[in-house]
Amino acid sequence: MRILHVSDFHYRKPWFAWLATQAPDCDLICHTGDFLDLFGSVPVPDQIRRVASWLARLRSSLLFCSGNHDVEAEAGQAGAWLRGLLSPFAWGDGTIMSRSGVTLVSSGWGTPCHLEGPADVLLRHAPPGGCATAVSRADGRDWGDFELGEDLRSGLIPAMDIVLSGHQHAPRCWHARCGAAVSFNPGFNAGAEVPNYILLDLAGRRMARWHEGGQLAGALRLTDTPDPAADDRIAARRRPRIAPGHPKHPCCEHEP
Ligand SMILES: [Zn+2]
Ligand SMILES: [Zn+2]
Repeated sequence: MRILHVSDFHYRKPWFAWLATQAPDCDLICHTGDFLDLFGSVPVPDQIRRVASWLARLRSSLLFCSGNHDVEAEAGQAGAWLRGLLSPFAWGDGTIMSRSGVTLVSSGWGTPCHLEGPADVLLRHAPPGGCATAVSRADGRDWGDFELGEDLRSGLIPAMDIVLSGHQHAPRCWHARCGAAVSFNPGFNAGAEVPNYILLDLAGRRMARWHEGGQLAGALRLTDTPDPAADDRIAARRRPRIAPGHPKHPCCEHEP
């Protein structure tokens, strides 16, 4: 099972085109939210219409979770437009699905992350709090989901292998250990023609490879332990979560 993980496209048309025509072959595309750009000049209804048409061109199946930009795009609508993306080949928030023996769960922005049973892969826009995937390499601030981080570390969330996220555009690292799980965040490379992406091979050697701006920039065997002590140190310095919709949301710090 090969998963292509991307996130935080923020209405960048070339990135959607890349995903439809040039992205590496995979069994499933996992997009972890923020399709839209609430700080862009294009009106939200136009963004929604175009994003829906761009995603309809994908050749691979798509599983996504919503990001804050998607849910907050239409006041009071709670991301209702995302339901228009669903098809026999596209699944969104609240999905629990099994493919090739891998159970995947998509958890939407602003909803509690309560899992009913073991899963292998969780899609959640904000990374687990206290992880290098949630912490800014620029200023050290942690914009992760602290409840999710604590639940993973304490074992409250059962048997999770992989957590796919975005939201923190400049993470300290593209992967981090959180309890028994490994958290991934490809990051956001504003000026790149190709979005950052992570290729996960869940069969055979169980590898994850991170591509920054189209170039291979790192690889990880999923059986390795990526410095749990470092993540514990970050967790000890964590800051309180800021509510969704905060005007200085970090996700937007790197927006033009
Ligand atoms: Zn974002
Ligand atoms: Zn975000």
